Amino acid sequence: PSESNLIRATLFPGDGIGPEIAESVKQIFKVADCPIEWEEHFVGTEIDPRTQSFLTWESLESVRNNKVGLKGPMATPIGKGHRSLNLTLRKELNLYANVRPCYSLPGYKTKYDDVDLITIRENTEGEYSGLEHQVVRGVVESLKIITRQASLRVAEYAFYYAKAHGRQRVSAIHKANIMQKTDGLFLKCCREVAEKYPEITYEEVVIDNCCMMLVKNPALFDVLVMPNLYGDIISDLCAGLIGGLGLTPSCNIGEGGIALAEAVHGSAPDIAGKNLANPTALLLSSVSMLRHLKLHDKADRIQDAVLKTIAEGKYRTGDLGGKSTTTEFTHAICDHL
Ligand code: NAD
Repeated sequence: PSESNLIRATLFPGDGIGPEIAESVKQIFKVADCPIEWEEHFVGTEIDPRTQSFLTWESLESVRNNKVGLKGPMATPIGKGHRSLNLTLRKELNLYANVRPCYSLPGYKTKYDDVDLITIRENTEGEYSGLEHQVVRGVVESLKIITRQASLRVAEYAFYYAKAHGRQRVSAIHKANIMQKTDGLFLKCCREVAEKYPEITYEEVVIDNCCMMLVKNPALFDVLVMPNLYGDIISDLCAGLIGGLGLTPSCNIGEGGIALAEAVHGSAPDIAGKNLANPTALLLSSVSMLRHLKLHDKADRIQDAVLKTIAEGKYRTGDLGGKSTTTEFTHAICDHL
C-alpha cells in the first residue's frame, strides 16, 4: 500500500511474551500487505506523574488520536506497587466494554466441538475500581462500585453487538441474590435495555450456576454480559473450553469510537523470552482490529491462515501440544498467506 493509504494504529508490545507475539503480528501484517502503520509505544521505566503509572500521557494520546490499536499484555505486581497499567488504560480511555469471542477451532480437538460464545465484560468499575483501604489493623475494605451509567453503557453495547452479529440471546451474569444493591442495579439496567430489543431473548443467570452450565454444556450460551470481575473469571473459563489462553482474542471498546484489541491472556512470565508463546490470541485480536477498520478481506485472509495452520497440526506451539517455536508457527502462517 502507498504511504498515503496507510492507517495509523497504536501498538503496545507490552511485557513478558508481549514483544515476541507482537513481532509475529507485525511480520504477518507485512506479508498480508495490510495498510497499517504501527505507532509503537513502550512502557517506561519511571512513573509518569500525569498518569500515576508507567504508562505515559503520550501513549494515551496516541490511542486517542488514532482511535485504534493493539495491545500486548502488561504485567502488574501482586499486592503492591503502582496502579495497574491495564486499569490506567481502561480508565483514562474509557474503555467501557471488553468483548471476548470464544469459539471451537476447527481441527483442534477439545472436549467440546460447539463452543461459540461472546463474553462482554464491563471494564471500568465493579471490584476493579482500585478503591481499597485498611479500616483498622487486620481489617481491610474494597469498594465495589456499580453505576447506572456504566451498566447501561455495557448493556447497550451487548444488545447492539448481539443484533449486529445475528445473535439470538443475551444472558446477564450476576450474584444479585447476595449483592442485591450492586448486581441488582446492573440487572435493572440490563432489563431496561432488553426491553428495547424484543427480538433478542434475554435471561439472567447466577454466576455460580453459569460456571456449572458452561462446563457441562457451553452451547447453552450465546452472548454473556457481566460486571468486571465476573467477566475476568468467566472469560478465562471459556478459554479453557476451547484449548487455553493462547487462543482467545478480545477487543476493548471505548467512548468516541476507540477500539483497542488485546489478547485475553497475561504476560506469561513462565515462558517469556523463550520463543514458546502462542501468538494466536494476539493475532486474532489484530484480526478484530482489522474488522473494526472494515478491512474484512485482510482480516479474513489472516484468520484463515491462522486457523489452517492450527488445523493442519504440523506446526503448533507447546500450549496446544506441539513442539514449534513462536517463530516457526509464524512462518507457517506466512506460508499459508
Ligand atoms: P497469564 O495469562 O500470563 O498466564 C497463565 C498461563 O497461561 C501461564 O501458564 C502461561 O504460560 C499461559 N499462557 C498465557 N498466554 C499464553 C500464550 N500466548 N501462549 C502460550 N501460553 C500462554 O496469567 P498470569 O500468570 O496470572 O499473569 C501474568 C501477568 O500478566 C501478571 O502480572 C498479570 O497481572 C498480567 N496480566 C495482564 C493481562 C493484560 O494485560 N490484559 C491479563 C491477565 C494478566
